[in-house]
Amino acid sequence: MRNEAMTEGNLFKFDYFKCLRSDYAKNECTICIDLCPEEAMVFDRKKLTLDTERCTACAACVGSCPTEALASEVFDPNRFSLEFASQQKPLISCKENVPCLSALSSEHFIAIALRKEGGVECDLSHCAECSVNKDGKVLASIEASIAEANRFLEMFGFERLVSMRHEAQENAPDAGRRMLFKKLANAVKEAGEEDGMRELIHLNDEKQPLKRILLKNALKKVSESFPKETTREAAFSFVVGKKIDAISCNNCQECAMFCPTDALSILKDNTGILFQMGKCIACGICNDVCQPRSITDDNSFDLVDFAFDRMQILVKHRLEICEECKVAFSYHGGEKVCDRCKEFKENFSDLFTMAKDLE
Ligand code: SF4
Ligand code: SF4
Ligand code: SF4
Repeated sequence: MRNEAMTEGNLFKFDYFKCLRSDYAKNECTICIDLCPEEAMVFDRKKLTLDTERCTACAACVGSCPTEALASEVFDPNRFSLEFASQQKPLISCKENVPCLSALSSEHFIAIALRKEGGVECDLSHCAECSVNKDGKVLASIEASIAEANRFLEMFGFERLVSMRHEAQENAPDAGRRMLFKKLANAVKEAGEEDGMRELIHLNDEKQPLKRILLKNALKKVSESFPKETTREAAFSFVVGKKIDAISCNNCQECAMFCPTDALSILKDNTGILFQMGKCIACGICNDVCQPRSITDDNSFDLVDFAFDRMQILVKHRLEICEECKVAFSYHGGEKVCDRCKEFKENFSDLFTMAKDLE
C-alpha cells in the first residue's frame, strides 16, 4: 500500500510518519537537516518536508536517521549490510558499491564487521574532494560512525574492526557517479525479493528500525564469543539505558505511550513500566514527555540485554484507590489521596474556606 505521507524525489524518499518530529511535535531532531549538503530537508508550516527540487539523491543523510525515515531508491543499507559478507572484496567504496558511505550508520558498520570474516575496509580517499562533503560535515559524520562502531566492537573484545583508508590507490576503478547509480539500481531490480530481501521482509517490524534488528541478529550469531562480563559504562549515539525515580513517577504511562519503538511498555497489571534496551533508539522523547522529570539516562550498557531484548522493570508501584476521586493511583504512603486531588485541593483551598465561611 502506498504511504500517502511519502515524498519521493530524484531516487530518494522521505517518510513523514517515520520521522521523530511527526511522532512528537516537540521533538527537535535535526540530524538530517544538519547533514544535507543541499539543504533539501525544509520546514513547511512547522513540518519537516523534502524539497524534491533540491535533493540530489546523494544519500548522505540516509544512514543518519535513527528511524529510517529516509531512503534511497538505488541503495538499501540493510540489504547491503546483509549481503556484504558474501562479497569477495572487503572494501566499501563510493566508486564500487555504495552511493555514499554516509548511507551507513554505526549500527550498520558494527553488523557488517560482525558478519564479515577477515575484516572490512572503508575507502574515504574521495570524500575530502567530493561535492557532497560541503563544509566537511559528511566526511566527519562517516568517520564518527566508523569510530563509534569500532569503539563498540573493541569494548566487547570483538577483533573484527572497520578500517579506514584515506589515501587514494593507483588504478582504482572509477566509473563515475552516474554509472555507479545505474549499477546499483540494476542490482536492486535484479535482486527483487529473491535473496537477502526475504530475510529483511521477514524481519520487518513496524516499530523498530530494521538496522537495529539486523545488528541484534549479527550479535546473536557471535554470542558464543561474548565476554564473561557483558556490562560496560558506555554511551552510544544509537541507544541509551533508562532509570525511573519511583517516588516522583506518578504512573501516568505517557513515556510508554509516546515511545516510538515500544522500548518502554506498561506492565500487564498497569502497575509499572518495562524497558527493553535493545529497542531504544535514544530519541529522548520519554524524557521530554515525563512531566515530573522522573526519567534519567543510564550509561550502563549490557550486551546481552541489548542483543536478546531482555526486559527490565524500571518502576513498579503499589496502587490504591483515591479517597476523593475513587481512581487508582500510585501510592507512596500517607493519606490515600492522589496527586491530582491534592493539587486541586491546594489550588482551590481559598475557595473551599470561603464556601465554608458562607455556610
Ligand atoms: S534524521 Fe530522521 S527523525 Fe531526525 S529529523 Fe531527519 S527524518 Fe526526522
Ligand atoms: S516515568 Fe514519567 S511519564 Fe513514565 S509513568 Fe512515570 S511519571 Fe509518567
Ligand atoms: S525509551 Fe525513550 S529514548 Fe528510548 S526509544 Fe523510547 S522514547 Fe526514545
